[in-house]
Amino acid sequence: MKTEFPIPEEDLVRWRRHVHRHPELSFCEHKTVAYVEAELRAMGIDEIRRPTETSLTADITGMLPATGPVRTIALRADMDALPVEEAEGLEFRSENPGVSHVCGHDAHVAILLGTAKVLTALRSTFAGRVRLIFQHAEESLPGGARDMVAAGVLEGVDACVGLHVWNDRIGRLSVCTDRVATTASDAAWITIEGRGTHGSMPHAGIDPIVVGSELVGALHTIVSRNIAPDHFVVVSPTVFEAGKVVNVIPQTARIGLNIRTKDADDRALVRERVYALAEHVAAAHGAKVTIDWQSGYDAIVQDEGMIARAQRVAKETLPEHLIATRTGWTASEDFSAFANRVPSVYLFLGAGGPEEGYHVQNHHPAFRADEGCLPYGVAVETAFALDFLAGER
Ligand SMILES: [Zn+2]
Ligand SMILES: [Zn+2]
Repeated sequence: MKTEFPIPEEDLVRWRRHVHRHPELSFCEHKTVAYVEAELRAMGIDEIRRPTETSLTADITGMLPATGPVRTIALRADMDALPVEEAEGLEFRSENPGVSHVCGHDAHVAILLGTAKVLTALRSTFAGRVRLIFQHAEESLPGGARDMVAAGVLEGVDACVGLHVWNDRIGRLSVCTDRVATTASDAAWITIEGRGTHGSMPHAGIDPIVVGSELVGALHTIVSRNIAPDHFVVVSPTVFEAGKVVNVIPQTARIGLNIRTKDADDRALVRERVYALAEHVAAAHGAKVTIDWQSGYDAIVQDEGMIARAQRVAKETLPEHLIATRTGWTASEDFSAFANRVPSVYLFLGAGGPEEGYHVQNHHPAFRADEGCLPYGVAVETAFALDFLAGER
């Protein structure tokens, strides 16, 4: 690395292993947030707030006088774990049965703590303010970010950086050059109400399985016949529940839909088409439908200037072979709650790829971040913050 500041490598491993051993589910990050607060206070950071019960922000203010208005950059780490039983074999395996850090948020916490330690040591060298956002509940709707925003964590913030580890070469930083870095995610539950009847007397009922089957076919035309071919949209019926025994035609069937879009107009169109198809297919058969629409996270829309800054900072910080670009991710992330309010960038950090023996993606029971990625994360976040606070470039 080309950075001149020392990186606390032993601390990074200690923090990461502690958080990994003690994973907590979304909205339940009580011990994690207490641990983060204690570690920050041990560094001498005391401008700490708890916007919600299990989230935290901390400000590090530079000691140089600002030449213009004081700039503030926010760096965000999510802290929650998943309800997944971790694969065997890790020395610091999860001690919370059925819960584990298989999305790598343990690495995010360690990286942001490391960045805090470095920036605290560098306070005499910069003007402006760094706000550390330790966010709860990224993995579970409605997400923690929106509550943090409602509690005012973006007040006075000029820009925001998010970072996620993924299955790629250790330490490789991929800057997403598409403005849309992740998709919007919505869900719909469609309940079809027919009329149950004896399995031998189908004429006496309205079969919700027939209606539902036709509807599944119709739903698949939303993407193929309504969305421009170069747009990214997924509409997947992922749940179909109906019936229990073979001699009864059931009263109801239920379809669950997973919907991903990048464009706001496509998102609205999909919703309109789901309602129209469900209501009309049901009506054609004399059945009724009710739809429970669950809006999920918005797409992350990055700022062009922040993308360019990230590419420049990567060049100035990392060796050539650890710099890459990528297209948007089909997953969804509530970093959008920050990114869609202040100019932001969402970075991808390699935490071990196939060439290093890591073969599974985030959320797999055996996913884990290689500790070798942590110093790179600290170097990039620190360099980005210092570059932003130094002013326009
Ligand atoms: Zn995840
Ligand atoms: Zn994640």
